[in-house]
Amino acid sequence: MNHQNVNYQKELDKLTESLEEAGRVPRLFLHSCCAPCSSYVLEYLSEFFEITVFYYNPNIFPESEYAKRLSEQQDFITNINFKYPVSFRAGNYDKEKFYELSRGLEHLKEGGARCFKCYELRLKESAKEAVKGGFDYFTTTLSISPMKNAGKLNSIGMKVADQYGVKYLPSDFKKKNGYKRSIELSKEHGLYRQDYCGCKFSLAERKELH
Ligand code: SF4
Repeated sequence: MNHQNVNYQKELDKLTESLEEAGRVPRLFLHSCCAPCSSYVLEYLSEFFEITVFYYNPNIFPESEYAKRLSEQQDFITNINFKYPVSFRAGNYDKEKFYELSRGLEHLKEGGARCFKCYELRLKESAKEAVKGGFDYFTTTLSISPMKNAGKLNSIGMKVADQYGVKYLPSDFKKKNGYKRSIELSKEHGLYRQDYCGCKFSLAERKELH
C-alpha cells in the first residue's frame, strides 16, 4: 500500500459518519505535541469521541520549553468546554530514548529519517498506554503540521497499532483547512506558538535560518 496516495481525511470522515449513524462515542487516546496543534484537532474530534490528551514528547529541548508546552496544553484543555469530556495525561520525559534514536541522524534536516523515528517513539508509547487504558482508538495531532508527512505518520500508526493490538485513527488534520483553523484558535485563546519543531537539532536549524 502506498501511504502517500491515501486521503486519510476521507478515511476519517467515513469512520465518523459510521459512528454517528451507530450513535457510538468511542474513547480516543490522542497524542498531542502542543496546545496550538491540539486546538483544531480537539475542536473537531471532540464532536465524535471522548478524549484523553496524552502529552508525550521526550524530543523537546530544552527542558524549560518542554515544561512550557506541557503547561500550555493543560491550560488549554481546562479552559474550553467540549461536547464530550476531554481529559489530560502527561507521559515521561524520556530524553535519553530520543537521543538514542537520533544517533547518527543529528545532522538531518526536519522531515527526514530522524523525524520518522521520532514519530514512531511517540506513537509507540501512545499505543502502549492506550492498550493499558482500554481505549478504542489512538492517534496523534502531528499530521496537522504542513512540515509533517501524513503518509508516513499514518503508515507508522497502523504498524504500531498491529504490534500493540489497538485501533489507529487515520488522520490528516491539515486537510479541511485544519492548520489555518489552528492558527485562528491559537490567536483566539492567546496560545504560545513555538517557532521550531521541538528537538535541539530543529532549534539549531531554525537559528541557522534567522
Ligand atoms: S525535527 Fe521535530 S519531528 Fe524531527 S526529530 Fe526533531 S522534534 Fe522530532
